[in-house]
Amino acid sequence: MAENFIISQGNGISVQYNGKKIVLDPSSSVDADVIFISHAHMDHMHRPKQNSVVLTSHETAYLAAQRDNELGAVETELEGYEMIDSGHILGSRGLLIENELYYTGDIAGRPRGFLPRGKPVKCKTLILESTFGEEEYRFPPIAIVQDRVNKLIADLFSRGIPVLLMGYALGKAQIVSYLFSSWQPMYSHEAVFKMNGAYRTLNVDLKGESIEISKAEEEGLLKRMPWVMVAPMSSGRSKFVKSLKEKYGVVTIGFSGWAVNESYKHSRALDYAFPISDHCDFYELVSFVKECAPEKVYTFHGSAVSLAEHLREIGFDAEPLLGAQKSLKSFI
Ligand SMILES: [Zn+2]
Repeated sequence: MAENFIISQGNGISVQYNGKKIVLDPSSSVDADVIFISHAHMDHMHRPKQNSVVLTSHETAYLAAQRDNELGAVETELEGYEMIDSGHILGSRGLLIENELYYTGDIAGRPRGFLPRGKPVKCKTLILESTFGEEEYRFPPIAIVQDRVNKLIADLFSRGIPVLLMGYALGKAQIVSYLFSSWQPMYSHEAVFKMNGAYRTLNVDLKGESIEISKAEEEGLLKRMPWVMVAPMSSGRSKFVKSLKEKYGVVTIGFSGWAVNESYKHSRALDYAFPISDHCDFYELVSFVKECAPEKVYTFHGSAVSLAEHLREIGFDAEPLLGAQKSLKSFI
């Protein structure tokens, strides 16, 4: 029998049906029968005191704990719910409720290194993350970006210049570490080193080894140039980057979907920026919707309004869920 879902948003997205309330990715404590956590980027999740059940993958629970965000006892399986790999970061999942409603969480549009594309599933109602839901966002193939970056690093290495690769410490930094693991020696910022270690514990082979910066500095390794370092995304104006530039003349390369716009590189004061994203681009979002073939689509995050508008133009019943986006940080 078709379920009657009532969908609203505020502190996460709330879905009510059959007298039950499930809250998807709440950012603070909330009363619910089930709380679903799609992935470990949800920094401010608080486990409620009530008898709520927390549903998440064991990888997400582990990664959250590594980031001092203990989720307590979690369920990794629950009748009526199916978690589906969203390919966004390790352990990220979308949620299919009663085989009818599919919430994607943050979702990737293509395989990158050891991560797959988020899986489309036929459903009646689709709640779709729409961070890059505008036509200007078309990401080039990963292999082309990888090739360009390898050529750039080769050129810098030939002149003895060290390279700083930057991306979000959980998720992007591990993809970057993997894709460019052939460059040695490779050093890692503490935050990246910790998350790389967590990925390895969860059986991800990141290929090459890297040495933590503090150890490299202690042993005077950074003076022997060139080298590659992977660090969390930070501005070229930050103390960390400025210091590496002064001491070693490092060249910075940032990785983000936002790098599709030339302005991203300038606003972050980066030397180079390349679009490698853990989200779908506009065209991948549209294909994803077609593959899921839903009767109703709700879009959330980023370009929710314009993506819903485009989906209506091509014949889908689509509307944005507005207000769920608290800050840029909430959809890294
Ligand atoms: Zn995320």
